[in-house]
Amino acid sequence: GNNDVTCQVMVLGSGPGGYTAAFRAADLGLKVVLVERYPTLGGVCLNVGCIPSKALLHTAKVITEAEETEHHGLSFGKPDIDLDKLRSWKANDVVGKLTGGLAQMAKARGVTVVSGTGQFTSPNQIAVTAADGKITLVGFDNAIIAAGSQATKFPGAPDDERIMDSTGALALADIPGRMLVIGGGIIGLEMGTVYDALGTKVSVVEFMDGLIPGADRDLIRPLQKRMEKRFESIMVSTKVSSLEAKADGIYVDFEGANAPKETQKYDRVLVSIGRRPNGKNIGAENAGVAVDERGFIAVDKQMRTNVPHIFAIGDIVGQPMLAHKATHEAKVAAEVIAGHKVEFVASVIPSVAYTDPEIAWVGLTETEAKTKGIDIEKASFPWAASGRALSIARTEGATKLIFDKETHRVIGAGIVGINAGELLAEAVLAIEMGADAHDLGLTIHAHPTLSETVCFAAELKEGTITDML
Ligand code: FAD
Ligand code: NAD
Repeated sequence: GNNDVTCQVMVLGSGPGGYTAAFRAADLGLKVVLVERYPTLGGVCLNVGCIPSKALLHTAKVITEAEETEHHGLSFGKPDIDLDKLRSWKANDVVGKLTGGLAQMAKARGVTVVSGTGQFTSPNQIAVTAADGKITLVGFDNAIIAAGSQATKFPGAPDDERIMDSTGALALADIPGRMLVIGGGIIGLEMGTVYDALGTKVSVVEFMDGLIPGADRDLIRPLQKRMEKRFESIMVSTKVSSLEAKADGIYVDFEGANAPKETQKYDRVLVSIGRRPNGKNIGAENAGVAVDERGFIAVDKQMRTNVPHIFAIGDIVGQPMLAHKATHEAKVAAEVIAGHKVEFVASVIPSVAYTDPEIAWVGLTETEAKTKGIDIEKASFPWAASGRALSIARTEGATKLIFDKETHRVIGAGIVGINAGELLAEAVLAIEMGADAHDLGLTIHAHPTLSETVCFAAELKEGTITDML
């Protein structure tokens, strides 16, 4: 037909979902075109999400650890922050290395990257419009939609660069004196942690009655306690009722349980109230792909949409909007197209907030067990009894395991504390392998490590614990 390029697999979007799908399909011998509107590959996660946020959180951790060593006899003084160097480290040494690496990997695999914004024109063709207006028509046998999501805007907020989404906050234009974070979810608390360490007075407003509503409250408590100490304020059960941009600041009114009575003035506001899928901006209707009213695309266990040769993966197919979910789904879609008999069968997907302390959870939560009336057993090991936690002066943690009451198998886990995200992996594997408390308690863990707390929690449940510390 009228195609400029043809392929067996067209992947729309080059985030963790898209690049993984494209690379896997190419490795399986398929001819692949990868369509991306931005100049670098990697999507939200590499360019303006997971990776730059973790770089800045590392900086934050270095600063706060240095601040807190005074009581063991060390003091470093106030940090001298060179923002230009910090930004350039994040952009060039971290993000640039990864996105550049992706471009090389695409080339090495023979994946053709077509730059521009894609809009389906039919069930077998997409029109890609480049920045200079040039249109490339890509014909395909199969497609994988991995167009991701974007930040939800605050309804009625004025158009002002001081009212930012996560991308604006990661750009780190300056260190504001006073900043309001709207939304006490993962993005709000991670970015709040960064700005607090850099010296900003941070306030968080959350309309639900607690921070990170999806996690168990016993995990949130140590984080909230620490944030209440460091931040200017944490206002739960509270809403922003008006936002006004004036020359000298953003004026904000609140209502609700913890609302300040007077109008508050902030130098910057971060809006982090969730993300919405990009399903409505890709011409899906021309391909016959069903998109719901919010912009999500429904798929089956093989990641197939209602159109049998068109697949969808990642943030655009629904919660949880996490990079490791997208990459896992990507492999399934590429392998199904290559003729493999596979499905998405992961039993659990871990979640981690890289705050200080970190919060990590997987599988059934206690709150869920309660609301669904599921009988569980649990064991929670307090880090105050861990020699390692004491020796690094970070005892405000806990490792909790949730067991099936009958089989004693691990069906959920929650960890709060430094490095909780790394420690969770053992529990994720335990759940996937059907391990029980014996398996974890009888596995010798190196001493003294924080990973021992997983073993200690299992021993607590078994009643065999003797070696506190
Ligand atoms: P995306 O990464 O959103 O990629 C979609 C790509 O498609 C984009 O590059 C976009 O430009 C392109 N695109 C869209 N429409 C078109 C079109 N019409 N034509 C051409 N190209 C198009 N997740 C974690 O697991 N861990 C974290 O620590 C983490 N931290 C985060 C921090 C922040 C600040 C944010 C915002 C997100 C974070 N996430 C994290 C979430 C993670 O970034 C997403 O879950 C992940 O990027 C989703 O991958 P994806 O492939 O579905 O889509
Ligand atoms: P989120 O859904 O995690 O949190 C949004 C929070 O804002 C919720 O607590 C919600 O109750 C609150 N909220 C909503 N509207 C509000 C309002 N008008 N006023 C006050 N509070 C309001 O969303 P997010 O933090 O924006 O993150 C978006 C997505 O990005 C998440 O789905 C997450 O999966 C992903 N992400 C993951 C990581 C990670 O894995 N470490 C990091 C960042 C982002």
